[in-house]
Formats: sequence, structure tokens, C-alpha cells
Amino acid sequence: MHTIGLLGGMSWESTESYYRALNEGVKQALGGLHSAKVAMVSVDFAEIETWQSAGRWDEAGEALAEAARQIERAGADFLLIATNTMHKVAPQVEAAIDIPLLHIADATAERLVADGITRVGLLGTRFTMEQDFYKQRLTERFGIEVIVPEDTQRDHIHRVIFEELCLGRIESASREAFLDVIDSLHARGAQAVILGCTEIAMLIKATDTHVPLYDTTALHAEAAVKRALAGSPLSADTQ
Ligand code: GLU
Repeated sequence: MHTIGLLGGMSWESTESYYRALNEGVKQALGGLHSAKVAMVSVDFAEIETWQSAGRWDEAGEALAEAARQIERAGADFLLIATNTMHKVAPQVEAAIDIPLLHIADATAERLVADGITRVGLLGTRFTMEQDFYKQRLTERFGIEVIVPEDTQRDHIHRVIFEELCLGRIESASREAFLDVIDSLHARGAQAVILGCTEIAMLIKATDTHVPLYDTTALHAEAAVKRALAGSPLSADTQ
């Protein structure tokens, strides 16, 4: 089994979901007492958020690059950055290490393509919904058209992420608001909606809506388990 590098803490609430999903995935594939081999570095999200909101992406990128180097030195075979937003600095992180990065947008898009989804709604932080680094990858590499919520909806979603979900607060009023946004994206032609922030699945479950949801945390973790087990003699029946 290969060792999964996990760059977490953004926020730690969702890194907890990753850690569970990675271990459950390996357990499901291999059974018994098997669990994932993980090398993790978890950052202080307050520092990252300060750089994000000030637009100081280079400094955030350098901090993540240093964390990624630590993870590589700890023996990881490949790297996950456990947040959609910070894939904005993925090129800076990739340039700092010799192990491959398993990009969260690729893991998500591969499933969308496999399911025949060509027009998708995207929920996430303002950075993810508004800037090009994520949407463009889906469109240019995978031919998927991306629809984002209206401005006031984006503002609300962003605030719920930072003021509630990243603090572990789950509010039913916010769940209702997110479901309304999902409905409106569907009405605008989205065949499905990407939960493009790694905390959103703490709030919204697939059973809450008839619109198909693509949870980036689950898909990223699933792709990581598959890669970790690739070539493993224990996993011949999982490939
Ligand atoms: N975890 C979130 C994401 O997937 C938001 C926190 C962050 O800004 O990294 O985008």
C-alpha cells in the first residue's frame, strides 16, 4: 500500500472527514484491521484565512509548499491538499515537491464525466466560485460547463463556510438556504451540483435534495484510496 500525503487543517473539521473517509475506504477494500497509511501535516487555518482574505496568496502558497515538503520527507507517495480553495496555489505546491499532487478538481471531474454530467452547479468559497483556477480546470480539461450562484447567494455561502462550517457549527437555517441555492442552480440548467468546499457535506446530504450532489471530500478521498492501493497485492480485487 502506498502512503497518502494529507495537507490538512483547512479547516480541521473537514480534515477529520478526510481521515475517516481514507481509513474507511481502505478498510472497505481490504477488510479486517487494514487502515490507510497517511502522512499528515495540519496547518493553522487562522493564518491561512488571514492571507486569503488579504489576497496574499503567495505567502499562503509558500506555507503550503513548506508543509508539502514536510509531508514528502515523512514518506508520502503522493499528496492531497484537503481543501478546494487552496488549490489556487496548487502550482506553487507542486513545484516544491517531487511527489505527484492528486488534484481535487480532477478527482471530481472524472466522476462527473463518468456519469455523463456536462453542466454543473458549483458551491464553494467566493474564491472557488468566482476565480478561474477551479472552474477553468473543469471546463478546459474536462469540457464541463460550470454555473455559479448569484452574487448575494455567493456572499451567503461564503459567510456560512467561514463563520459556521469551519467552526463546526451546523445550522438548519443555513441548510435550507443552501438547498434553495441548489434548487436555483438546477432550475438554471445544472444537471448536478458540486459541493466544492470540503466542509459542505457536514451540512448537506444527498438525501436532502433530488439534485445529484458531488461531494469533493468523498470523491477526493476515494481517488486517493484507489491510488494508494494501486498495484498492491492485497487489493487485486479492488482495481
Ligand atoms: N475547505 C474549504 C474548501 O474546500 C474552505 C476553506 C479554505 O478556504 O480552504 O474550499
